[in-house]
Amino acid sequence: MKTFEELGVAAPILRAIQEMDYEAPMPVQEEVIPFLLGEDNDVIALAQTGTGKTAAFGLPLLQKIEVNQYHPQALILCPTRELCLQIVDDLNDYSKYIENLKVLPVYGGSSIESQIKMLKRGVHVVVATPGRLLDLMNRKTVDLSRVRSVILDEADEMLNMGFTESINAILAEVPASRNMLLFSATMPQGIASITKKYMNNPKEIVIGNKNEGNKNIKHVYYMV
Ligand code: AMP
Repeated sequence: MKTFEELGVAAPILRAIQEMDYEAPMPVQEEVIPFLLGEDNDVIALAQTGTGKTAAFGLPLLQKIEVNQYHPQALILCPTRELCLQIVDDLNDYSKYIENLKVLPVYGGSSIESQIKMLKRGVHVVVATPGRLLDLMNRKTVDLSRVRSVILDEADEMLNMGFTESINAILAEVPASRNMLLFSATMPQGIASITKKYMNNPKEIVIGNKNEGNKNIKHVYYMV
């Protein structure tokens, strides 16, 4: 098993994750981190929550940010406000020793004015639910023209929640040259069509078994 350092993770991030007691990379991290650090490659990762996927995409993404360029360089789309805030918390922890790196959560139900204010001041990473991001795009308050990495987290959940059209509208506004990483716990048809439309020769990584629930979760139902 490799260390984070051997996977190519840089010093300021290493220091932060060591303080968080991340001793060794989890399997999804071992596969995804060197791949994303290597070149601007596309990845489809079938991995459930709890597998360490946030660090798998977060560490290489943060490492590639040019901090002196104050415009969105990475965009993470996720289905819910809770996941959005959780991702932002994790990215803030990982980038603790990268000075001035700004991560902005964008989700519905919170003040759009304060999100617009933060965007005006300049951010590097936007973590967003699709509906609110589209709202900001329609108001011309967010510039996605220099985004280099797009992450779709819990992509199957976003499709279940009816975000397919919004995702298509958002992806139409980011440069075609961006790399893209899609995380999903299952692989329904809708995901296959997104990957076909937007991804270039993606590497497919399967952590655990395809279309299977997490073993730690007990499923119960009642007939009514
Ligand atoms: P995630 O699947 O991204 O929600 O991560 C699940 C949990 O594992 C989170 O609490 C992370 O902080 C933690 N975690 C992620 N990577 C590691 C690692 N390499 N070592 C220990 N804990 C980790």
